[in-house]
Amino acid sequence: MCGIVGYIGRRQAYPVLIKGLKRLEYRGYDSAGVALITETKGLEVYKTKGKVADLEAYVEDKDVTGTVGIAHTRWATHGEPNATNAHPHISCSGNLALIHNGIIENYTVLKEALQRHGVAFKSSTDTEVLVQLIDYIQQHLKTDLLTAVRLALRQVIGAYAIAILDRNEPNQIIAARKSSPLVVGIGDDEFFLGSDASPIIEYTDKVVYLDDNDIAVLRRGAKEAEFVNFDNEKIEHDVKTVDLDLGQIEKGGYPHFMLKEIFEQPKSLRDCMRGRVNVEANNVVLSAVIDYRKELINARRYIIVACGTSWHASLIGKQLLESICQIPVEVEYASEFRYSNPVIDSRDVVIAISQSGETADTLAAIQLAKERGAFIFGICNAIGSSIPRATNTGCYIHVGPEIGVASTKAFTGQVTVLTMLALALGKARGTINNTDYVNLVRELDSIPQKMEKVLEQNDHVRDISRVFTYARNFLYLGRGYNYPVALEGALKLKEISYIHAEGYPAAEMKHGPIALIDDEMPVVVVATQNPLYDKLMSNIQEIKARNGRVIAIVTEGDEKVKALADEFVELPQTIECLEPLLSTIPLQLLAYHIAVQKGKNVDQPRNLAKSVTVE
Ligand code: GLU
Repeated sequence: MCGIVGYIGRRQAYPVLIKGLKRLEYRGYDSAGVALITETKGLEVYKTKGKVADLEAYVEDKDVTGTVGIAHTRWATHGEPNATNAHPHISCSGNLALIHNGIIENYTVLKEALQRHGVAFKSSTDTEVLVQLIDYIQQHLKTDLLTAVRLALRQVIGAYAIAILDRNEPNQIIAARKSSPLVVGIGDDEFFLGSDASPIIEYTDKVVYLDDNDIAVLRRGAKEAEFVNFDNEKIEHDVKTVDLDLGQIEKGGYPHFMLKEIFEQPKSLRDCMRGRVNVEANNVVLSAVIDYRKELINARRYIIVACGTSWHASLIGKQLLESICQIPVEVEYASEFRYSNPVIDSRDVVIAISQSGETADTLAAIQLAKERGAFIFGICNAIGSSIPRATNTGCYIHVGPEIGVASTKAFTGQVTVLTMLALALGKARGTINNTDYVNLVRELDSIPQKMEKVLEQNDHVRDISRVFTYARNFLYLGRGYNYPVALEGALKLKEISYIHAEGYPAAEMKHGPIALIDDEMPVVVVATQNPLYDKLMSNIQEIKARNGRVIAIVTEGDEKVKALADEFVELPQTIECLEPLLSTIPLQLLAYHIAVQKGKNVDQPRNLAKSVTVE
């Protein structure tokens, strides 16, 4: 999942690379490294275990001059995180340095073949095989770097975004991509590389998104970047303009990105709905539903594929689409779906949901569904990323960059898009009556304001969190639309505080989890006033009868639950299917504050990375 940065031009490369790595650190942070063609010594590689700040400390007394370089922040897949396994990897001859994001699946076969030819490997990564193979080809065929890269990549199976420096061709960087993201930034007499556009936008807004099997050649002094395929045929790419400002990717006074992003939700949902939800006209307009009306409204079935938090949003989407549009919906983990043999054809619509738009399993699921003729609809946040490019149509969530590893505003953005989609399709299919439609449109429009009221209780949630830092387990319960919210609340807590947590549909508690309840077990219950309220009240009684500690998420003014619960957070009243947009917020805040109280690194939790670009 790692982050890749590259620079060639007239500036000193090192500061550009380090700043870029910091922007990409959400993608991986177990080790980091940089390769530079320095002014005095030629190719130099510095790498260390730990975060980008550790790399900075490590290079303090080193030569970091030079105007061309590549850098990497790692999330290990093969080989433990240490300095040897950190990227860049250097070839046997010492000529080449290479960074990689992805997994080389046939690395064992290639490695053994190279070892038989006397190539000595230093690391236990899959990546090193790439640099050794390219070097081997270069040495034996006496070719230039580009030719060696082309020939080597033909033998490679797996996913990669790579960038390579050659000390004998010091005025270029060669980069390539297959299934892992890579963006080239185009400045005046300078080029940038990034796993996404965030390391680039400070210098230029002109970018090219590489496609699979593209090789980019970035030459010093060239006016344009060159792109070729493995057969050395030229590829033309449109230069795109990125619309991202620096403020969006900085903390803006908050101690953590996660807290900033939780607080951004009223604004991010307004952005998400802008131009789509119109209360004056009482309607919801999605261009994808206008452009692909026939494919979308006549579908026999929808299948939503996603991973992690996006999968939880999908479960809410299923309920919305089924109840508003009367279309059967299945929700699948993309990682399972891709290896299944689904019964699916051109009458099906597959909705793929991913914040980053780069999730490897979701991309593979799309590929499978495409091969079987399904129509593909994407719901993503990162503009221009791989999933939107692989789908027939879709809808961006437009919540701005999400940097905190634990997803917050992307979740509510995804649920909002799914709500708008259900409304637009329900109207087109005639499955929702006008009164319900108008009420929902109006209520959806008022959600950001109601979110602000929930956020006002941040201090109260912080106080609650202090009581529960002792806990080693948590249970989260909800029903109906709030069942996926319980799953998401439990996931947030696990991710950032390392407390074990389970989410359950409340009524399932008596089929097992109730055995866990004792006076040490905190149980978070989303118990808002909706048709399942009385059932939930019984569930709370069952917990209290066993001395469990109840943290209830309740509708404003509900004295009954408040009297029963140990702690509570109040939510403004809303329509049942929109409740997740509010009920999820106290659970995000609770996880955040517990993790902070426990001294955990909220934005960079151990073992995780933001954009899961490996299988
Ligand atoms: N597979 C490579 C490694 O373990 C790259 C991992 C990544 O993409 O972060 O070093």
